Amino acid sequence: CTSKDVARKVHSQVLLVVIFACRDDPCPVKLNLIAGAYRTEEGKPLVLEVVRRAEQQLANDLSCDKGYLPIDGLADFNKLSAKLILGDDSHAMEDNRVVTIQCLSGTGSLRVGAEFLAKHHEQRVVFLPNPTWGNHPFIFTLAGLSVQYFRYYDPQTRGIDFQGMLEDLGAAPSGAIVVLQACAHNPTGIDPTLEQWEQIRQIVRSKGLLPFFDNAYQGFASGNLDSDAQSVRMFVADGGECLIAQSFAKNMGLYGERIGALTIVCTSKDVARKVHSQVLLVVRPMYLSPPIHGASIVTAILKNSDMYKDWTIELKGMADRIISMRQQLYEAIQARGTPGDWSHIIKQIGMFSFTGLNEKQVRWLAKEYHIYMTYDG
Ligand code: PMP
Repeated sequence: CTSKDVARKVHSQVLLVVIFACRDDPCPVKLNLIAGAYRTEEGKPLVLEVVRRAEQQLANDLSCDKGYLPIDGLADFNKLSAKLILGDDSHAMEDNRVVTIQCLSGTGSLRVGAEFLAKHHEQRVVFLPNPTWGNHPFIFTLAGLSVQYFRYYDPQTRGIDFQGMLEDLGAAPSGAIVVLQACAHNPTGIDPTLEQWEQIRQIVRSKGLLPFFDNAYQGFASGNLDSDAQSVRMFVADGGECLIAQSFAKNMGLYGERIGALTIVCTSKDVARKVHSQVLLVVRPMYLSPPIHGASIVTAILKNSDMYKDWTIELKGMADRIISMRQQLYEAIQARGTPGDWSHIIKQIGMFSFTGLNEKQVRWLAKEYHIYMTYDG
């Protein structure tokens, strides 16, 4: 920049003020609850045992090199990732109408999908849940799509505003893109029931909307990979189109490896072939080809049945610990006779708690107790 002042302004536009405040707080017991990242009892990032084993295996394998991957990434990784979300018996995969390309974690998968849609989808409007992950509006707007919202959360009931959601989706223009979080909704921790998913599917299909699933937390909601994939599989089973952005940041603890995949389920093999070549043209000028290491770790784990089993056990361990942390927090709040109903803490799912605290209360927690969270609580 031309001056320190301009640099400060640029910086504050890029990151949330609260992140700076936490970073600059010298207090040794400060707590950072801003980022969606799993931490151990000691507040440290967790490297899964199975990931360590996979890395050792890769280090000992002299056939592994550091050459460029193809534009769409590691072929085995793509196939195994698609199977993980679509299921072992996916008809769409059998019919060869599924395109999967390795991307830079969930964010990169969303962005590549958004760029592809901005270039090729006739309807340039995307509907996001209100509220949603803070990065969603930026990802889709910067890709050139126009962002609108559908009702999702009801602060009165601290539950899903299902009627509002159906009304807003019902009023969306035909062909509009709808972002749906597959499970463990960020930030509300509230997911539709399976019956509600079925109603959402019906309205999405009858209105000709295009579902784009953000699948950042598979396994983190229930502890079971298949249960958490049910929403997506319901849509794929009806033979219609959808996009899925998949991340291995949370469920394999591979945050910094930036490993994920974009899957596009098409209506025919012929369409899939065309979509594939067009997605390659989106990726090539953006980053040419994706990184190899994270993809190799995920592939090693997904293709070996022992390692896969060990992964599911560790994943369940993380999910169960989150559930137990919720219970402990709830009980501690109750034990202090805190006014109000706090049952939403244990009703919500996944790693996010939408606490119901307002900005004033959040600021007070940071000032008095060095506990940092986003201003929406
Ligand atoms: N989607 C949602 C809903 C998220 O919460 C996150 C991470 N906070 C992501 C996508 C992207 O995560 P990553 O790019 O690390 O996979």
